[in-house]
Amino acid sequence: MFENKKVFILGMGKSGVSVAKLLAPISNVLITDIQNDNKEEIKELEDLGVNVVITKDQGELFDENYDFVVKNPAINQNHVVVEKAIKLNIPVLTELEVAYQFLPKDVTIVGITGSNGKTTTTTIAYDILKEAGISVHLAGNIGLPLANQIDEIKTGDVIVIEISSHQLVNLDKLKTNISVLTNFSEVHLDMFGTYENYKNNKLRIFRNHTESDLAILNYDDSEVVRLTNEIVSKKMYFSSSTEADICIKNGSIVYKGEKVIELSDIRVKGTHNYENIMAAILIAKQFNISNSVIKNVLSKFGGVEHRIEFVAKINGRQFYNDSKATNVKSTITALKSFDNDVVLILGGLDRGHSFDDLVPYLEHTKHIVCYGQTKERIEMFADKNGIDVTVVNTLEEATRAAYNLSEEGSTILLSPACASWDQYKSFEDRGNEYKRVIDTLQ
Ligand code: ADP
Repeated sequence: MFENKKVFILGMGKSGVSVAKLLAPISNVLITDIQNDNKEEIKELEDLGVNVVITKDQGELFDENYDFVVKNPAINQNHVVVEKAIKLNIPVLTELEVAYQFLPKDVTIVGITGSNGKTTTTTIAYDILKEAGISVHLAGNIGLPLANQIDEIKTGDVIVIEISSHQLVNLDKLKTNISVLTNFSEVHLDMFGTYENYKNNKLRIFRNHTESDLAILNYDDSEVVRLTNEIVSKKMYFSSSTEADICIKNGSIVYKGEKVIELSDIRVKGTHNYENIMAAILIAKQFNISNSVIKNVLSKFGGVEHRIEFVAKINGRQFYNDSKATNVKSTITALKSFDNDVVLILGGLDRGHSFDDLVPYLEHTKHIVCYGQTKERIEMFADKNGIDVTVVNTLEEATRAAYNLSEEGSTILLSPACASWDQYKSFEDRGNEYKRVIDTLQ
């Protein structure tokens, strides 16, 4: 499909660079970004014959002679190059779609999407399959481009892929054998315009399914159930509140009437995590994996970094890093996981979103410390709701202030309800900074 074709790669993130390397031997590749100081990376690409252009004027570089555009998933559909390509009928793909074309024929693909819980579900499913001795690969939005792994994937292998909304937009031929839709919540409206558009885009994960493919769905999310009503896939449901193919009964996870594991034997806590685990078990059951293998993994799995991650206990205070909570819904999930006193650190990029939905979950929150672009709005929110608040400029100051304000036995929780991009490159950078400051308190 890509032999001797002209390919325009927009964005030098991990995925763009990996796809440039994959295509360089067979295609004529140009990759561009508005900035990239990584001289080694540029040299490596140039040595492979890739044309690297750093410019703000990407629209000028692009013309009708290109056969494909490969865009970084985070770049908006209204980017000048994307708009021009669509006008010229030139396909716009993402790395995932390109890499898919290079896979051997008989691989089993498990795709996981949803507003929350993707990375956790993907990681647990991968860990269980690996523990069972299956030749399995982990890829996608989890930070591991599929394009980097093509050489290692053989016929018969399984690939577990976390697929974001942004990756789904430009999916065309990619077909999963098993797809999970964890849940819906109102996020990324800046990219999708309306909640309806956002939800419909998520359904693209089932678009190439036939009746022999499986959809794993959250029975507790009425929108998930309603919107998947018409898809042709076989369906299996998980539920934390009622009967389903897999559900919670008498303190255990039960699959088709059979007890898989007691909740007390699972290391991570919180209903949301049990939901992720149930989705992952439904995946594992498609590969006939035994309950003892599943138990073995779940008794050890302590959660994914930056997701309600336990960091340290200092002078009787427990620090948790939930930097991944970039929206209010995720912060609510974190707040529901604690029943002791909490000092909550909030703040970050201002998308104009409201914090009001937090109110019913703040009963244990003794103090809010806020920083970043949203700090004034959070201060107003706290004042309005009678919660003590301290306003600072940086996360470092916020962490120190939270420690000083806390009492023995309490939890200090970074669960910022905002994206990190006002002060950080990523939520990972933000979480790492938080952990660095905590280290200095010890
Ligand atoms: P994603 O990859 O979809 O962003 P993660 O697994 O990284 O999701 O979890 C991110 C945050 O989302 C967690 O810290 C938690 O607050 C929340 N979360 C995780 N799983 C769920 C779930 N099943 N339902 C609701 N919220 C969840």
